[in-house]
Amino acid sequence: MGKRLTVKQKNELLEAEDKQILNYGIRIHIMPNGEQATQIHKTFGCSRFVYNKYLADRQEYYKVNKKTLYVNDYKKNVLNPLKKTEKFSFLKEVDKFSLESAVENVEIAYKRFFNKQSKYPKLKTKKDTKKTYSTYFTNDNIKINLDSQTIQLPKLGEVNFSIPKGKNKGKFNNLGSHSVKITKATIGQVGSNYFVSLCIEETISKIKQINTKDIDLTKVCGVDLGLKHLAIVSNGIITIKYENHKYLTKSEKRLKNLQRRLSKMIKGSKNYEKMKLKINELYSYTANCRKDYAHKLSRKIVNENQVVVLEDLNIKGMIKNRKLAKAIADTGWYQLITFIKYKAEWEGKKFIQVDKFFASSKLCNVCGDKKIMLTLNERKWVCSSCHTVHDRDENASLNLRAEGIRLLEVA
Ligand SMILES: [Zn+2]
Repeated sequence: MGKRLTVKQKNELLEAEDKQILNYGIRIHIMPNGEQATQIHKTFGCSRFVYNKYLADRQEYYKVNKKTLYVNDYKKNVLNPLKKTEKFSFLKEVDKFSLESAVENVEIAYKRFFNKQSKYPKLKTKKDTKKTYSTYFTNDNIKINLDSQTIQLPKLGEVNFSIPKGKNKGKFNNLGSHSVKITKATIGQVGSNYFVSLCIEETISKIKQINTKDIDLTKVCGVDLGLKHLAIVSNGIITIKYENHKYLTKSEKRLKNLQRRLSKMIKGSKNYEKMKLKINELYSYTANCRKDYAHKLSRKIVNENQVVVLEDLNIKGMIKNRKLAKAIADTGWYQLITFIKYKAEWEGKKFIQVDKFFASSKLCNVCGDKKIMLTLNERKWVCSSCHTVHDRDENASLNLRAEGIRLLEVA
């Protein structure tokens, strides 16, 4: 692949035309025919093979040379010559970008490991429930045809897809426009469903950022994230508490039941595989419900406000507490924050994250006094200086709002 311009470089070039790049993703459900499905599975297999090979080779290389075998050297010196050998000629039958991206994923996995974002990379197995491979756009190899409802993908040809319902539709219909470019496609299978996730780069008129002096203070809100309520939103006049639906907790009973039944089945049998599929589908169903809610809630918060102030949560750190981990994972805080952030940015509104060491719960929003001890169970407390009775969460969201205003210097 030739050198690609970064988004920053592209934006600099577009500056003169008062335009900018907008990046987003669209996921569509595809229905490959038998032949295409076979090719997809072949590509999963080859991607997994080169992923595992690079991972093993890199470890071996380090053992022997005490040096890192970097991905670009690996591609040039190992992967490409390998494809030319007879023994590994099957690698030529699949999309070449899928192999490159598979070895690049090893590099990414290492980076995430060194950044303490994930565990040490391990070998992929055929049994992994989520199978994917990625390919890049070059010379018109990925194209969408809205009329015939097909997407052209390398080595697969025209694959049928179904048009997404609801919220995605607007963005989706845009795909035919010349200002929209697909940069990358990830083909995957979850359970019995196939999908393609498209990375989109759209050239749009420059988003007008709201001027600090034009901000209406009643449209500055603090958002406190919680377990009892998912989000407590306060604009200084009213406070709204949004329910935490606990989607996973709700399906836990059914999940446990299915898992118990699975444990009694013979591993690898048809019924076993069917049951596993059912469990996976239940997991993805709860994840979808959570995502849907996060979309609706973030949309509402961004529509009603010009500035959204949130706490910069140390979610990773908190999740080390096993008791809380499950409950937190079930809230989808991180997803909600991400959705609020991009929705606000797309509209030129302000998104502010307050330092995680800011004591949003312990400060009195009326007099600024700090309560020394506040346990997680204390839902209400009385300020010892001004005697205001505080609802813990509302007080926290008001403090976040005040801190946001201070950072904006609008007050
Ligand atoms: Zn007080």
